[in-house]
Parts: sequence; structure tokens; C-alpha cells
Amino acid sequence: MEYPKVSKKERDYLIYIFEHSKDFPVRLRDLAEFVHVSEPTAYEYSARLAEKGLILMKKGMIKLTEKGSELAVSIIKAHRVLEMLFYLNGLSIDESCQECSKIDYLLDSDAIEKLYKRLGEPKSCPHGRPIVVKSK
Ligand SMILES: [Zn+2]
Repeated sequence: MEYPKVSKKERDYLIYIFEHSKDFPVRLRDLAEFVHVSEPTAYEYSARLAEKGLILMKKGMIKLTEKGSELAVSIIKAHRVLEMLFYLNGLSIDESCQECSKIDYLLDSDAIEKLYKRLGEPKSCPHGRPIVVKSK
């Protein structure tokens, strides 16, 4: 699937929404609180994600579209594969996580797939979280 390009902030929102929407949508108010912005700002970013077809927003409630969910899964995989790569090459877990967050949404998923294979398809990242996550 082709995904729209997202900014770093939009990436952060997307991942938050993915991680906090299980069976229920996320409240705009909670999202704003999590990213330390006002509700109007959270609304503005959410509207951009909605425009890109990644989320649905209705009456202050947000949920991911199929495309948004798949993009989140691919960013999370990129994050955890890179984390493993950095960690195995001398960075601490925290450093790995921090550095990965700067780039995980920019990399091509085919490149990530190659790194993943080269690493021996690890089951989890250095934090112990699964690398392959199911789309919701
Ligand atoms: Zn991790």
C-alpha cells in the first residue's frame, strides 16, 4: 500500500492513537494531554491526519483508518528493527529508542525488511516489545 508522507509530529500522533485505541476510539482531549498541546492544536494535527486518510474524527473521538493502522504498524516495525540494529552496535536502549524516533517514519519499508532479515528476524526489540505487530 502507498502511504502519504507524514511529519515527525504527525508520526507521534499516529503512534499514540495506534497504541491507545484498542476496541475504542481515542479522545481528542487525551491525545492533547499526551502530546502536551492544547485541544485546538491537537485538533489541527488530527485534521491533517484525517485529510491524509489516516484517521477518522467525529465528535472529539478519533480512530485510525485501515491505511492509518497499517502505516502505524510499518513505522513501529521500522522503529524496533532500527532499535535492534543500533542496540547491537553499541547504543544503549534509551539512545537507540531516541535516535530511532527521529527517523523511523522516513525509511522505506523494503529497506527495513532487508535489515530485519539480515538481523535474523528478531522477535522483539531491545525493550522486549514485539517487532511484528498486528494491524487493527
Ligand atoms: Zn523498543
